[in-house]
Amino acid sequence: MSTLRFEALKEIFNRKPIKIKEPERRSELFGTNVFNEASMRQYLTKEAYKNVMDAIESGKKIERRVSDHISTGMKEWAISKGATHYTHWFQPLTGTTAEKHDAFFDTEGEANAIEKFGGSTLVQQEPDASSFPSGGIRNTFEARGYTAWDPTSPAFIWGTTLCIPTIFVSYTGEALDFKTPLLRALQSVDHAATAVAKYFDKNVTKVTATLGWEQEYFLIDSALAATRPDLTLAGRTLLGHGPAKGQQLDDHYFGSIPTRVLSYIRDLEIESIKLGIPVKTRHNEVAPNQFELAPIFEEGNLAVDHNSLLMDIMSKIAEKHHFKVVLHEKPFKGINGSGKHNNWSLATNTGTNLLAPGSTPMKNLQFLTFFINSIKAVHDNEELLRASIASASNDHRLGAQEAPPAIISAFIGSQLTDVLDELEKVTDGKLSPQEKTDLKLNVVGKIPEILLDNTDRNRTSSFAFTGNKFEFRAVGSTANCGNPMTVINTIVAKQLKEFKVEVDELIKGKKMKKDDAIFNVLREYIKKSKKIRFEGDGYSEAWEKEAEKRGLSNNKTTPQALKVLNSKKTVALFEELKVMNTIELEARHEIALEDYTMRIQIESRILGDIARNHIIPTAVRYQNILIENVEGLKHIYNEDFKKHSEEQLDIIESISAHIAKINSGVKKMIDARKVANKLEDIEEKAFAYCDDVKPYFDDIRYHCDKLELLVDDELWPLTKYRELLFTR
Ligand code: ADP
Ligand code: MG
Repeated sequence: MSTLRFEALKEIFNRKPIKIKEPERRSELFGTNVFNEASMRQYLTKEAYKNVMDAIESGKKIERRVSDHISTGMKEWAISKGATHYTHWFQPLTGTTAEKHDAFFDTEGEANAIEKFGGSTLVQQEPDASSFPSGGIRNTFEARGYTAWDPTSPAFIWGTTLCIPTIFVSYTGEALDFKTPLLRALQSVDHAATAVAKYFDKNVTKVTATLGWEQEYFLIDSALAATRPDLTLAGRTLLGHGPAKGQQLDDHYFGSIPTRVLSYIRDLEIESIKLGIPVKTRHNEVAPNQFELAPIFEEGNLAVDHNSLLMDIMSKIAEKHHFKVVLHEKPFKGINGSGKHNNWSLATNTGTNLLAPGSTPMKNLQFLTFFINSIKAVHDNEELLRASIASASNDHRLGAQEAPPAIISAFIGSQLTDVLDELEKVTDGKLSPQEKTDLKLNVVGKIPEILLDNTDRNRTSSFAFTGNKFEFRAVGSTANCGNPMTVINTIVAKQLKEFKVEVDELIKGKKMKKDDAIFNVLREYIKKSKKIRFEGDGYSEAWEKEAEKRGLSNNKTTPQALKVLNSKKTVALFEELKVMNTIELEARHEIALEDYTMRIQIESRILGDIARNHIIPTAVRYQNILIENVEGLKHIYNEDFKKHSEEQLDIIESISAHIAKINSGVKKMIDARKVANKLEDIEEKAFAYCDDVKPYFDDIRYHCDKLELLVDDELWPLTKYRELLFTR
């Protein structure tokens, strides 16, 4: 066996699970590394505390005068927890988190040193940001991006560093990160939803969008992962023959979690809890060595931060346990990939989930209002939703018969379908008292009962209603949830604004009663948004055909999916709601296209390298062994040798044929790359990588994987799928 592979496997057999110190009650650890309300009360002056709380609750500005008090309190708290450094922690468009650590330590005069952290350092910083993607917004000669404190997401300590969640904007104020547009979208959905919620309850003054994500991931032993250049550099395997046993026995899903893995997960959970991430669920996923972790849902901005933080610490904690966390959407061919369901809803300050049916007909009319408006928003903006989850890695998953397709559709279940069908029949204009009673008793009034036993969840739908929330299921496992959450909240905000205008017009213009007006508008929405509703099998080919007939988009690749960002409608939408301006949108489009191009380019280089430097030489070595064998047989059998070496000759020939195919494939792929690289236009280049470079991957891989089956296992240099996926 190739030495590298052999040594790695040997290392694993000596691994022991790491002992985890479990507290008596995990609840006691919750938020202990977070500058939360309790620690703020302890460390801040009354005035400073009030200012921060106002900033969190109503977006009030932090006063300059108070910021010094806040930073001093925060510093004292952090030092008491062993922190020596602080950093502004932000989410640039690279898709990871960024931080630059500075010490509290400072000198004062010649001989004195103190721990220092001023208010202005807390509130704003200018990191050297010239190498973060900015899509042309921030001219490189200016190279200035600013990070500014987001008090709605609490500071936390990781290791010995105080991390302060911040937004990241250019010198001219344009967003350079995921958080800034998300905060704007959350604010606009708050305004729009509050105005509509007031139809039903005057006490509502704030609506919060909630998010509960479910993170899927693979754990691969770090020694084995290190033997694979593709896993190390691209986060996925670019070749490798499927193992004899894959996931066909369904024996991994919800199975017992292996001891070594469990000790990693417990470690991760405990650290998450200390950071205030309310992790709740853990289980095996469908594929071997695949797992899922989900928290209790939270306010949208905090939940997005927590997911980014979690992805970060997952890898850090894994090092200790000798695992590599693989977050990629499709790390192994033929094995289910990973996603990140985004459960989304709207909650009022009065404690009502607006997407949950209630106990009275009025509460249920409120539910129907938000439910139908959400569907209408998805209907009107399906292509934009698809764009919000587009990435080179997620392209592998959408439409691979294991995840929702690239087509966006909404599943609501048969009972709610019946309700909408009934509502569609509502009379145009004012409703008779009889009709209203009927509606209230027999349609609207029955909703809670039917939802209680609504268990028919459709796992193949990209946007499914699951009882008291929508679940956006096409989000990729590596994604920053900020992107899809910005889009969902923006489109729903826009829709609710429109709804309010239409209802008010009916009330004022046609002198309708409020509920008559609401029924009338909802009826029209149900009719107009029908084509987005689909209850069948989203993985089937029949659906693809049907969706095309309905005129739904089916953008299978990222460059195609991103096109909608340029459309007039998109620009108008984001500008109207003040979530992003034209420049910010264009920049994001560019950055996403560049990211796509670079990822395919990197993969193409890795594949070329492995094919030529690992696979072909190994195949040649094995072929030489066979040739030597045939020579020997010739020596023994003379003319008769052919009869005794037919198989060997056959293999020798096959090897030559595969080598030739690999070599020519790599050559053509490199040529296609050269042509693509000459293109100046960012979009054309992304399309060239997508349409002209990427198609060679499968062909090159096919011949490499065939060789894996032919060549002596002892010689094979790459750790095989069965070893990556089944060794623990
Ligand atoms: P599944 O069957 O898909 O695993 P669950 O019903 O257990 O789903 O919930 C999955 C996720 O939905 C959890 O992360 C949970 O926190 C989240 N969730 C539940 N209610 C809400 C809500 N109102 N808003 C947002 N997320 C929610
Ligand atoms: Mg789910």
